[in-house]
Amino acid sequence: MANLRYRALADAYNRKKVRPQPPSSQISDYFGCDVFGDNEMKGLLSPDTYKVVKKSIQKGLKVDPETADAVAAAAKTWAMSKGATHYTHWFQPLTGSTAEKHDSFFDAGSGIEKFKGSALVQQEPDASSFPSGGIRSTFEARGYTAWDPSSPMFVHGVTLCVPTIFVSYTGEALDYKAPLLKAVQAIDDAATKVCQIFDRKVTNVKASLGCEQEYFVVDKALFNARPDLVLAGRTVFGHAPARGQQLDDHYFGSIPARIYDFMQDFEAEALKVGIPVSTRHNEVAPSQFEVAPLFEDINVAVDHNQLLMDIMPRVAERHNLKVSFHEKPFAELNGTGKHNNWSLITNTGVNLFQPSSSARENLVFLTFFVNTIKAVYEHADLLRASIASAGNDHRLGANEAPPAIVSIFIGSQLTEVLNELENKGNIKLEKGDNMYMKLGIDKIPEIMLDNTDRNRTSPFAFTGNKFEFRAVGGSDNSSSPMTVLNMILANQLNLFHDAVSKEIEKGTDKRIAVVNILRKYIKESKGILFGGDGYSDEWVKEAEKRGLSNIKDTPRALKSYLSKEAVALFEKNNILSKREIEARQEIKLEGYIMKIQIESKVMADLAMNHIIPTAIAYQNKLINNANGLKGLGLENKEVLQTIQDISHHISTVKSNVRSMAEERDRIDQLGDTHKMAEEYCDNIKGKYFDIIRNAVDSLELLVDDEDWPLVKYREMLFLR
Ligand code: ADP
Ligand code: MG
Repeated sequence: MANLRYRALADAYNRKKVRPQPPSSQISDYFGCDVFGDNEMKGLLSPDTYKVVKKSIQKGLKVDPETADAVAAAAKTWAMSKGATHYTHWFQPLTGSTAEKHDSFFDAGSGIEKFKGSALVQQEPDASSFPSGGIRSTFEARGYTAWDPSSPMFVHGVTLCVPTIFVSYTGEALDYKAPLLKAVQAIDDAATKVCQIFDRKVTNVKASLGCEQEYFVVDKALFNARPDLVLAGRTVFGHAPARGQQLDDHYFGSIPARIYDFMQDFEAEALKVGIPVSTRHNEVAPSQFEVAPLFEDINVAVDHNQLLMDIMPRVAERHNLKVSFHEKPFAELNGTGKHNNWSLITNTGVNLFQPSSSARENLVFLTFFVNTIKAVYEHADLLRASIASAGNDHRLGANEAPPAIVSIFIGSQLTEVLNELENKGNIKLEKGDNMYMKLGIDKIPEIMLDNTDRNRTSPFAFTGNKFEFRAVGGSDNSSSPMTVLNMILANQLNLFHDAVSKEIEKGTDKRIAVVNILRKYIKESKGILFGGDGYSDEWVKEAEKRGLSNIKDTPRALKSYLSKEAVALFEKNNILSKREIEARQEIKLEGYIMKIQIESKVMADLAMNHIIPTAIAYQNKLINNANGLKGLGLENKEVLQTIQDISHHISTVKSNVRSMAEERDRIDQLGDTHKMAEEYCDNIKGKYFDIIRNAVDSLELLVDDEDWPLVKYREMLFLR
C-alpha cells in the first residue's frame, strides 16, 4: 500500500467537507457587487461625463482624455472602497487563457493612490512571451493593451480589472477580442441595414451569446497522482470502468454533495463579478457537470466565460478539487463541449430568430433564418476551422459529440416551411391577396417553440429562438467561432441586401423581392440541412454524397483559413488582414504540435518508467509462482499464459515507444510548421497513440491492482 496511488486515494477519502460561503442566501443581495457598472458610473460621474461615456460605449467611439481621467478617478474610488489596491489590464492573448499584470494604485513619489485616464486607456505590458506568430519579433516586443469600454470593469481579489484588447504597435490584433469586436460591429451594420428593409425604427442589432460550459471535477490528490492529467490535461492511459455512462443515470441526476458545495461556492464568486450563472446540472459522464449563465452581448459573454474558467479552478482549490475543461480528459466517456447559443436582438427588442405571431414579422425571421443557413453552407469549412484544436479532435465525431461534418438541424416543421417556400414558384400578387398566406409562411408561430424537436447529434441546431453551435470545445475561447459566425452572416446579409435592392430598383414589390431571393438561397444551400442521427455511419456516407466536408483533424481544418476566399472574406469585412490570419494560423499549428509532442512524451515516460517496471515486477511474481508450482509437480497453464501475455504487451509498448521517439526526432527536423503538424497528427498520434494505449490498458487488467501505479478511472470518477 505504499505506492503514490494508494496514498492519493487515502487522502481523497479522508477529505473534510468544505462549506460553501455565499455572501448571502439571496443572490440579489450581491449580484454584480464587484462590477463597475452603469449605476456605479452614474453615481460617481458628473451627468455630462456619464452621458459622454454612455455614448462612447453604445457607438464604440474613442473616449477623450478628460473623460478617461474622470472615469479612471471614479473607478479608483469605487475599487478602493471594495478593498482593491491594484489595477490590471485584463486581456485574452492567443495562448487561450487570460492575462493580467497588476500595478499598484499607490504612487510612492507622491505618496498617494493614483489612477490616471492614460493608464486606464492604454498600457504596455511586457508581453514578449505571448505568441504573436511572428508579427512581433521579440526584440521589438512592444504590444499594447487598450481599454474596451463595452465590457465593464470589475474587482477580482484586490485588483481592479480593466477588460482590454491586445494589439501590436503596428496595429495587428494579438488577441481573441480585437477581431471579435470587429465582427460584432460588422454584424450590427449588416443586420441593421437588412432590418431597415422592413422596419426603419431598427438602428442597431446586437449579437447575443449564452455559453453552456461543461466540465469534469476530480479530487485534487487523485488528479495530481496522474502525471498525464497534470502535464497533458488528459489521461493518455486508463481502462474504462466497468460502469461508465451506459446507465445514463448521471445526467440530471442528483448532484453529489461535495460537488454541490463547490458549485455554490464558485457560483457566488461568479455572481459577484456579474456573471449571471443560472443553471447547474450533472452531465452525461460520471463526474461531468455543466454551468450555464443567462445570455448577454457576445463581447461580455465571452469575457464572462473566460473569467468563469479562471474562477472555477481557483475556487476548486479550496475544495481540494481539480476542474478540467479539456475536450477529452477520459477516453470512452463523453468529452467536454461549450455550446454557443447565439441570436441577434434589435434595439427595438426583437429577437430576429424568434418566429412571431405576426406574418409580417415572420418574413423578417425567415430572412435571418435562411441567410444564416446560406452563410453556414457557404463557409462551413471556416466554421469547422474556428473550433479546431488538438483536444477537440478527440471529441468531434467520437459518437458522443457532433461529427466533424458541419450540418444544420432546423426541425421537421421549419423544414416543411422552407420546402413550401421553395416550391411555391414565383407567385403573382393580385389585388387583395394575402401574400404571406399565398406563400404558406403565415402560420409559423402556431407550430413553434413548445415542440422544437431537439436533435442532440447536430453540430449547429436551431432551438426555437436561437442557434446553438455545439461543436465548440470545452476549453476554447468562444471568440474564435463567434468571430467567424458573425462575420459570415454579416457578409451574407450584405449580399442579400444588394440583391434585394437591385430587385426593388427594377420595380419588384419589396416583399416579393425578399421572398424570391430567399427561395434561391434555400435551393442553393439546403444540402446542409440534416435532421437525422449525426453520429451514424450512414450520415458520413450521405454527407459525402452531398459534397459536405468531413475534416477530421486540426492541421487540415486550419488550412481553410488560408484559402484565397477566406482571406478575401476576412479582409473585405475588415476583421483580420492576411498577415494576421497567417500569424494566427502559425500560433495554432505550433500549439497543436506542442500538445501532441507533450502527450507523446508523457505517454513514453509513463510507459517506460511506471508501467513497464510494474508489469515486469508482477511478471516476476508470476514466474516465481510458476516455478514453485513446477517444483510441486504442478503446472498452471493460466499462469503461463498470463506471463506470455504480459511479455507480449511489454514488447509492444517498448518497441512502439522507441519508434515513436525516432519519428519525433525526424519530424522535429522538418522546420515547416504545417508539415510538422500534419506529421504529428498522422505519424505520431495516428500511428502510435492507440497501439501503446491499448497495450498499457490491457496490462492494467492483468497486473495485480495493488501494484498498479496509476489512479484508475473508477477511482477518479466515482469518488464522493
Ligand atoms: P439547453 O436546453 O440547450 O440547455 P437552455 O434553454 O437552458 O438550453 O439555454 C442554454 C443557454 O442558451 C443559456 O445560456 C441561455 O441563456 C441561452 N439562451 C437562451 N436564449 C438565448 C438567445 N435568444 N440568444 C442567445 N442565447 C440564449
Ligand atoms: Mg444546449
